[in-house]
Amino acid sequence: MDYVTIEELRDQIRYHAHRYYVLDSPEISDAEYDDLLRALISIEKEHPELITSDSPTQRVGASPSDLFAAVTHREQMFSLDNVESTEELKAWDDRAKRQLGVSPTGYVCELKIDGLAVSLTYEKGALVRAATRGDGTTGEDITANVRAIESVPLRLFGDAPAVLEARGEIYFPISAFDALNAAQLDSGQKVFANPRNAAAGSVRQKDPAVTASRDLSIWVYQLGFVEGGPEFERHWETMEYLASLGLRTNPASAAVGNLAAVERFIAGIEEARHKLDYQTDGVVIKVDRLTEQQSLGFTAKAPRWAIAYKFPPEEQITTLLGIEIGVGRTGRVTPYAVLDPVFVGGVTVTNATLHNEDEVHRKDVRIGDKVIVRRAGEVIPEVVGPVVSSRTGDETVWRMPENCPFCGNPIVLPDGEKVARCTGGLECPSRLREWLAHFVGRSGMDIEGMGYKTIDLLISEGLITDPADIFFLEPDALLGREGWGDLSVSKLMDGIDQARNRPVYRLLIGLGIRHVGGTVARALAREFRSVDAILRASEEDIAGIDGVGPTIAASVRAWALAPDTAPLIEKFRDGRVRLADDEPDETVGDLLAGVTLVITGTLAAYSRDDSKAAVEERGGKVTGSVSKKTTAVVAGDSPGGSKMTKAAELAIPVIDEESFERLLAEGPAAFNT
Ligand code: NAD
Repeated sequence: MDYVTIEELRDQIRYHAHRYYVLDSPEISDAEYDDLLRALISIEKEHPELITSDSPTQRVGASPSDLFAAVTHREQMFSLDNVESTEELKAWDDRAKRQLGVSPTGYVCELKIDGLAVSLTYEKGALVRAATRGDGTTGEDITANVRAIESVPLRLFGDAPAVLEARGEIYFPISAFDALNAAQLDSGQKVFANPRNAAAGSVRQKDPAVTASRDLSIWVYQLGFVEGGPEFERHWETMEYLASLGLRTNPASAAVGNLAAVERFIAGIEEARHKLDYQTDGVVIKVDRLTEQQSLGFTAKAPRWAIAYKFPPEEQITTLLGIEIGVGRTGRVTPYAVLDPVFVGGVTVTNATLHNEDEVHRKDVRIGDKVIVRRAGEVIPEVVGPVVSSRTGDETVWRMPENCPFCGNPIVLPDGEKVARCTGGLECPSRLREWLAHFVGRSGMDIEGMGYKTIDLLISEGLITDPADIFFLEPDALLGREGWGDLSVSKLMDGIDQARNRPVYRLLIGLGIRHVGGTVARALAREFRSVDAILRASEEDIAGIDGVGPTIAASVRAWALAPDTAPLIEKFRDGRVRLADDEPDETVGDLLAGVTLVITGTLAAYSRDDSKAAVEERGGKVTGSVSKKTTAVVAGDSPGGSKMTKAAELAIPVIDEESFERLLAEGPAAFNT
């Protein structure tokens, strides 16, 4: 860290808090910010004499900006302390227990909404003021803007008290957030790092028409100051009351009796949260009984009766180290971002696709930029956009290379298309490599022991130039090379031998004919029984098969007529690869009939698609969540915590990769021995 004195550290924190809270435009990730703050807290803990009243540790958020009139809150608005694990949650609960002398009698679990905190004041039922949290004591008057948000009632229902203050979070539904960022990009404006900054940026506008145009919504989560209202005993009752007045409270909340139930709530939300149309970055747990809340009280910044359980961040800011391109088996050229490794969405991300050149320029990401990286759920990581304010001027604009870095042939962008292509055909080692990987993959010919490493060796030694060459490999070509002994060579040879006899549809998948995936390959094999018959079939014959339309038929016919096809098939024939099915291939389809699996974490030998395909080909099902109908949970590396908890709760067996492979080979009988 590049600070030398405590005051310099404070200045850095102040600078970033201002960018975040006032400008809604952070330059560093939340994790980096939290590190700075934690460093300051620990120095101040060791040297309490250095604590100053203006230290960032002594207050909530940031001072209000001068864009808006200042509002003094009737009751202070607080931040929340947070925990990141069940152990830390337990420690919070233990502290509460010690302070109360007994365990809290109940808790309310609410979603932590990632938006902008707002205080709404109603007098005699009419909305008179909306204010931001600001530094907790003084916020900004954003009434005009908040009035533009449809879900904020301008008048409460029923018999409203003389004065009522409700607190909540203004947030962006994800669909509206994505649309906003896309529009920002298209008009050359900055993208928002997350829905929270976007919500804050949209509300803290001079022109309420801008707020009105931005599809914001609100969840109310707290009753503040009240004059002339009913008495309550529990937070839960206050929420029911707020809802009865017409305020929008989140139905995904629960009142529970003990910490174990709190943990179950958290696990459930962690699992389901990506199905929601708004972002939640955690769960807020509140002690339910108001007398207990009073006894617990507040620290300088946060209530002791509430805690935020935070999920791992889904957006981070990191450096774009470079942009490289990949060439796929069809020649498609895809630029991807090489990132300074960053922990986001629960994994360390080093690369993220940038789709095509247009996208790189549309997002205006430059090499050396600080970029916002997002990974939500199991979705592949994406670069949202650059942090323009962090630019130093040394960043460089990327252009698609004119020639393929793998084969040197020109890269072209066909007229009217966005996707560039390498013109090198199978001369291009990257294309060949990707094709071979697909060919030997689980859904293709499934050759045991042949991964990228082996493929790279075989290509670089000139031992294979197309997939049919695999069936002419001699053991001597490999024996004695580094890592290749008798055992590994004979294993590979066995794998190749087994692949010779795969049903025709597997060869069809492996050939990588455009539009021919598993279902179409099966339909073709069932109808024609042999590759030769497919080669001879007319476009009409092919289009006549159930589930095969004219586009697929045209593509299969084009493949059959391509000059390389017939010689390649002859080469397979010479290599003793099965080109016809004696019986229509219906058999493999029911080995896993009635079996439903949930796959979580990373498996060493299977991508997500491969493991799913392997199960489905055998008549089984793969689903995304654990239920009573789940036969088993397959757990790879870093399995999802909530899936594992759910499996334990429902007593569903959890199996490892080895058992999964046995299941694929032997069916459920694998477990009867
Ligand atoms: P916070 O956002 O972690 O938690 C407090 C807020 O949660 C409350 O003010 C309230 O608005 C909200 N909330 C949502 N749902 C709630 C519910 N059901 N009940 C009660 N409250 C609910 O705390 P904070 O102090 O607002 O912000 C701290 C965060 O901001 C940290 O994650 C920090 O990393 C980030 N930050 C980042 C930078 C940066 O430069 N990247 C700078 C400053 C702060």
